[in-house]
Amino acid sequence: MSNTNTSDNTPHYDVVIIGAGPAGSTTATYLARKNMKVLLLDSARFPRNKICGDGLPPRGVAAVDRLGVLDQVSAAGQHIDYFKLIAPSGKTMVSSIKEAAIEKKNAHMLAIPRMVLDDILVKHAVATGAELIEGCKVVGIEDNPDGVVVKGIAGREPQEFHAKYAVIATGASMGLLKNLGFLDKNDMPKPIIAARAYFENADHDSSVFNFHFNEVTLPGYGWVFPLKDNKVNVGVGIMPGKSIQKHNIKSLFYDFAKRPYMKQVLSGATQLAEVQSYPIRTDFLTATVYRHRSLLVGEAAGLGNALTGEGIDYAIESGEIAAEHLSEILANGDNPDKLANYALALDQKYAAIFNFSNRMAARGLNSVMLNCTIWVAAKRDSLRMSLTNIVLGLQEPPANISTGKVLMKVFKHLRRK
Ligand SMILES: Cc1cc2nc3c(=O)[nH]c(=O)nc-3n(C[C@H](O)[C@H](O)[C@H](O)COP(=O)(O)OP(=O)(O)OC[C@H]3O[C@@H](n4cnc5c(N)ncnc54)[C@H](O)[C@@H]3O)c2cc1C
Repeated sequence: MSNTNTSDNTPHYDVVIIGAGPAGSTTATYLARKNMKVLLLDSARFPRNKICGDGLPPRGVAAVDRLGVLDQVSAAGQHIDYFKLIAPSGKTMVSSIKEAAIEKKNAHMLAIPRMVLDDILVKHAVATGAELIEGCKVVGIEDNPDGVVVKGIAGREPQEFHAKYAVIATGASMGLLKNLGFLDKNDMPKPIIAARAYFENADHDSSVFNFHFNEVTLPGYGWVFPLKDNKVNVGVGIMPGKSIQKHNIKSLFYDFAKRPYMKQVLSGATQLAEVQSYPIRTDFLTATVYRHRSLLVGEAAGLGNALTGEGIDYAIESGEIAAEHLSEILANGDNPDKLANYALALDQKYAAIFNFSNRMAARGLNSVMLNCTIWVAAKRDSLRMSLTNIVLGLQEPPANISTGKVLMKVFKHLRRK
């Protein structure tokens, strides 16, 4: 669309996107499809490492399908059909994702190293028409009446990029958002902290994703995602608060790996690299998602699920929504006040999920609740199906639910035949 240069010959873009993870690359792809002049900036160089469980939930599979890269992602990823929940007591519930899913299309998971997934997504954005500059760390955004000036550093050289809008897709890295006033330095979000490592030749069924509440410190969880080539991604996460202050996430990881279940899984396995950790922001409900001519997507908007730690699907979906709103605004008179509609659209899509997940993560990740729920779900198909749909994001969770109401619902399932 816009192809002008400023008076000092700096290129002028419709949109500059900061961060080329799933949220940024998706926003870039959808905007480029609408012929917008788009610049993607990332401090890293691709393919780059991103600490993650590497699990792409079914709605993430559907989102990469809409993007047009499902074939590539499927070819590089491990297809997962089963979801296994393990209670603190050790009781397990196994669910077929296809059988449980309300929406049958793309009703499976994929596990794909982020080094590979994010490279596919960023290359797709470039192939669609976005420009990419790697190795450029953005340090500021200046607002002016009809646009933004994005300030970065590449090598030691300061850089400036002019655009009508900026999209901030910097994930859980909070420095830029703090500098820009999106986050209050005296009241910063308290993220989940999670750690993962890769292993080869583990004793794990490659069609199953394990979600562990046994042998981990609660409130928290562990996981095993099978990957291609006989590899697995093993990790633990712990909720914010006292528990993480008392523990070091890497020692929690090693505790999990040494306990009987995982010890057996990993007995003949080789660890491929050191354990790495990173935060997961889950504060969408209180996050500011736009201001002036900047808007936030993905985990920069707090879109990480407190109950499951997932965020790749929301990153891609929010990129789609952001691109839809920005292209609408740019095609119809460029009124930045209309960014309020983007915030509304995110609320409509995510408020119920985040209300439920935040509440359950804060109050429901205890032995009593988890043991009861998983014990009943293992016996009753109806509960197993709804649990699978809710955890995998395929069904809207019940509104305004408390842990007490959840337990009542669980026992109602037990009374059913
Ligand atoms: C241990 C762990 C396990 C997880 N497991 C899963 C899982 O199994 N499934 C799932 O769905 N989600 C999982 N998540 C969450 C998921 O990783 C994130 O929600 C997802 O990566 C968010 O995507 P994003 O595009 O918003 O941000 P990111 O993927 O974090 O991308 C942000 C990009 O911005 C760049 N950047 C940051 N700051 C700047 C700057 N100032 N200037 C320029 N570039 C910048 C970074 O280099 C990066 O490339 C996990 C997270 C962790 C930590």
